[in-house]
Amino acid sequence: MGTEDNENSLFQKVKSRDEKIPLIQIIDDDITMLIFLKDALEEKGWIVIANTSLDNAVSQYFDVNPDCVIIDVHLSKTSGFKILEDLQNTRKMFIPKIMISAVDDKETRLNAFRKGADDFISKPIDVEELVVRIESHLKRKQIYEQSVLMDELTQLYNRKFLKDVFQSNINELKRNDQSFSLAILDIDHFKKINDQFGHLVGDHVLSNFAAFLKETTRNSDTVFRFGGEEFVILFSNTNLSQAFEIVSRLLEEFSEKSFQVNGKNFRVTFSAGVHTILTNGETLETALDVADQALYKAKQSGRARVESNNQLVKDVPKRKLFISVIDDDAIIRQMLEKILQSMKIDHYEVNVQAFANGLTFFQSNRLLEQGQHFLILDGIMPEMDGLEILQKVKGSHYEHNILVLMLTGRKNQEDVAQALKYGADDYITKPFNISELQARMERLIYRIK
Ligand code: GH3
Ligand code: MG
Ligand code: MG
Repeated sequence: MGTEDNENSLFQKVKSRDEKIPLIQIIDDDITMLIFLKDALEEKGWIVIANTSLDNAVSQYFDVNPDCVIIDVHLSKTSGFKILEDLQNTRKMFIPKIMISAVDDKETRLNAFRKGADDFISKPIDVEELVVRIESHLKRKQIYEQSVLMDELTQLYNRKFLKDVFQSNINELKRNDQSFSLAILDIDHFKKINDQFGHLVGDHVLSNFAAFLKETTRNSDTVFRFGGEEFVILFSNTNLSQAFEIVSRLLEEFSEKSFQVNGKNFRVTFSAGVHTILTNGETLETALDVADQALYKAKQSGRARVESNNQLVKDVPKRKLFISVIDDDAIIRQMLEKILQSMKIDHYEVNVQAFANGLTFFQSNRLLEQGQHFLILDGIMPEMDGLEILQKVKGSHYEHNILVLMLTGRKNQEDVAQALKYGADDYITKPFNISELQARMERLIYRIK
């Protein structure tokens, strides 16, 4: 019963794919500007990741894969151009980069464009203009991606892009020891559909199947048309039993659909091979090869089934997520505790505990618990305030397992500056609404981790 519930919730989650909200990364050590821009762009409904330091900025860029980056030219420790160059050198994907600068002379502008900037805006910034420019870059990015990487019929990525996405999953595996899975799906007896109903109907089945796959997978998963009637799905941060389960559900659900041509109904099934990549020594070729052998096995065993050549480990334990709320306000503590306890997070077993202050938190030795930690820290507290806790936590040797979200007062720029400086992963200003908090938490857990 318990497992059944978990499986259902996993699939529910997989199904509730949120629409693609643009993610903007801002790198600026001028905290007033940073807060101003973050607020303005978030008002648009976009997600904004803010960085004041170079180290955080570049690693977050790779982790969150933003849709647009805004970089200040004049950073105190380094030049924004240096960051621009670093980003240009390492990522092939087309991500618009906008330089902002207090100095607006010809030399600075030329330098920006020579180093690969897509746009240059001088301060003071007119937000309305900035938004329009970002929108235009986002639109162009979309068109670019579609023209180069999209398959026309299905509107899925084509296999050209598979190598890149596979590689970024390998990078993730290197960094976080996070395994991922690959599935090859091949429609059963597709030739018969063409033969019986014509190629137009065949095409319709293909685009319908593609839309179904896109709708029923998570944002972090990528669906490719591999060729003809073969599709590949890369499931990031997904182990074998999870991938197996997801693909089996896809099969179950898709084969229930009924297609109709000239008053005649027919159903379509597929066979699939699933493979999980556990070490960074694996290449796309070897992974595809193993998945393809499993697919062959599925076809041989009668079609409409999922097979794998990995040893199936059914009961992989869920990862543990320890959420700690540290806030001296008892009402906020109670409210957050209740809400967080009911939050369902994929692949994680959530454990929530609230603390009235930093001392009791550290005394509890909770950080020694094995797993992922998520801290929600109130900025201002008597005795030990949020910033002190943050500093203590981020300086510890297990800091890589700890994500920190700071709660700050709306007008308190100094707090935000300090929080980011000491390594907070995000901040949220009070008063906040719960869905925003939840969205931010999920984003940090899924995208950064
Ligand atoms: P199996 O169950 O063994 O996979 O049999 P199958 O008939 O599905 O597989 P086979 O590989 O023998 O045939 C695939 C067919 O898919 C052959 C090809 O004409 C057709 N096909 C490939 N691309 C397209 C396309 O874009 N549109 C249409 N309508 N058909 C396509
Ligand atoms: Mg085939
Ligand atoms: Mg086929």
